[in-house]
Amino acid sequence: MNTRHPIQAIHDAIVTRQRFLITSHARPDGDSIGSQLAMAYALDALGKDVRLVNADPAPLHYMEFPGLERIEIARAVERSDAEVVIVMESGDLKRTGVDGLEGRFTINIDHHQGNTFYGSLNWVDESAAACGEMVYDVIEALGVPLTIEIATHVYLAILTDTGSFHYSNITPRTFAICARLVHAGVNPAAMARRVFDQNSFGKLRLIGALLAQMELFADGRLAVMHLDDAIMNATGTTYNDTEGLINLPLTAREIHAVVFFKLGADGDIHVSMRSKYDVDVRTIAARHGGGGHKNAAGFKVKGPLSAVREGILQELDAAIAHGAQTRP
Ligand code: 5GP
Ligand code: MN
Repeated sequence: MNTRHPIQAIHDAIVTRQRFLITSHARPDGDSIGSQLAMAYALDALGKDVRLVNADPAPLHYMEFPGLERIEIARAVERSDAEVVIVMESGDLKRTGVDGLEGRFTINIDHHQGNTFYGSLNWVDESAAACGEMVYDVIEALGVPLTIEIATHVYLAILTDTGSFHYSNITPRTFAICARLVHAGVNPAAMARRVFDQNSFGKLRLIGALLAQMELFADGRLAVMHLDDAIMNATGTTYNDTEGLINLPLTAREIHAVVFFKLGADGDIHVSMRSKYDVDVRTIAARHGGGGHKNAAGFKVKGPLSAVREGILQELDAAIAHGAQTRP
């Protein structure tokens, strides 16, 4: 039996190769961006050639973080001499939204349940609070010193993927890593402002409009919000301004779960869900071909909304009832 830890195999694969392409899932979030750029800076330090490719641009307020300009936005990689593709936080290769990555030596690093182990090397640790925690371990194994750029990106990954230290997958290790990042020069207060206090006035108007039309179900424990072009036009916002909004209803004490229906122009609906306690929304997402974590998950369905909404609300109602039974 091979008892070698995946980090050791990843270490060996990296030190023996030269040209790398790093990608992550479509519509990247703080964990994707932070994991990719922390790894990119570590590979720079080892003298490697690094190319970063994502299907979609990062949310605007991340653009000032170091190295964001290095990420190419492309739906396909046509010419690449990369020997290794490193994929962050993607359950399968399709979720990158980037074509042409198949058939190369692939390192798959993820912390989601349901990862399909599509890589040549696969390290999937569902207990990690962020993919950035795993990247931190890889960088440590590589012996690369924590520069301010690396520390900033690992912190960005952890800060965002724990929902600013709200979610249940936080461990002592999360704080041990953060302590080292702060020693390396990260300023937690400044990071929180840079990540969370970046609303445009349009986004504030959008928050008002969404909360005004929010509906409650399941005895007031389930909040339902909708996003469509009309509300974005009325508030002067874009899809980019919707990040994090799903968490607002959860700040109400009574609310145990939120579902946010985002209607795309193509008729597709992106369904985002968040929950507290033992309310499991990942299982619902998985049933619809999506994924995520117990308290944060999502999937896509074909509309119209009226055809799918009722069924999804019933599933959430059942998950809330079940969560209430299992709550310690
Ligand atoms: P969000 O609601 O912010 O889009 O996503 C919350 C969580 O669910 C994230 O961990 C994300 O990776 C996962 N997720 C969201 N949409 C999808 C999807 O369509 N497929 C899969 N596999 N996971 C998703
Ligand atoms: Mn993540």
